[in-house]
Amino acid sequence: SIVVTGATGHLGRLAIQSLLAKGVPAAEIVGLGRQVDKIADLGITVKQVSYEDPESLRAAFEGADKVLFISGSEAGARLAQHTNVVAAAQAAQVGLLVYTSIAKADTSDLKLAEEHLATEKLITESGLPYVFLRNSWYLENYNVAQGLEHGFVGASGEGRISAATRADFAEAAAAVLTSDNQAGRVYELGGPGFTMDEFAAEVAKQSGKPVTYTDLGEDKYREMLVGVGLPEGFAAILADSDRGAAAGQLFVPADDLESLLGRPATSLTTYVGTALKS
Ligand code: NDP
Repeated sequence: SIVVTGATGHLGRLAIQSLLAKGVPAAEIVGLGRQVDKIADLGITVKQVSYEDPESLRAAFEGADKVLFISGSEAGARLAQHTNVVAAAQAAQVGLLVYTSIAKADTSDLKLAEEHLATEKLITESGLPYVFLRNSWYLENYNVAQGLEHGFVGASGEGRISAATRADFAEAAAAVLTSDNQAGRVYELGGPGFTMDEFAAEVAKQSGKPVTYTDLGEDKYREMLVGVGLPEGFAAILADSDRGAAAGQLFVPADDLESLLGRPATSLTTYVGTALKS
């Protein structure tokens, strides 16, 4: 079977839909999460797990040929959670552990990268066959409607960001899970890349309205995010990520994603066009 953690989240659902589209029978897919009612419609086997509950993970991984391990969503709490996931995968001796990491995890100085690199280390030390999907940013992190109304703000300067749609990252994961000879591969995954000035210009071009990008620098951007209600810790992580993005930490060549998809990644033009229509 192919077991997908985080199946109840955005990326997990899309990965399962991609597996089904590639012809993997629903009976061979197991989706894991906490709020499992969210995926009751997919027709796959569903098991409730918590990354804090090692026994639930061990039971869920029993007999798994491959596991798509989608990283947890609680930054700062993830290393302990991921330690449980890797230990359970090791106990079950899963055939392939495919982990969604971050762009350039081994060299990135983003705060967000620390837990990903530590998780990659746990996985390599487990001795299990593994694949790292080092995903760059999601295009969905950028709210087109909001930018159109208020202008975009950030701290990524002139840095190029290889954002791609969640659906493309999910399809790439499904491609890895349905291909042979993947063990040991490390993919740096992202789209063609853009600066935030280019992003704003694309929204302006397609909407016919003026759209600005204002670069605030890390500190002011963090203060702004706190000002609009984000928790301090999360605001700091986002501002730090933009600081890193300005230095190119979220830029990767587009080849790995393209080759897994067998086509170019969804373009910024298409993403913006779809967002403006919705
Ligand atoms: P979501 O928040 O939509 O999904 C997160 C998934 O993780 C959910 O299925 C959630 O389960 C599960 N999860 C979280 N904590 C636990 C836990 N303690 N035990 C069991 N399951 C847990 O995120 P996305 O699908 O959009 O993204 C997937 C991952 O990618 C994120 O978790 C994060 O690590 C990373 N990410 C990457 C971004 C990028 O730009 N590259 C941006 C944002 C996140 P449930 O809902 O059932 O509680």
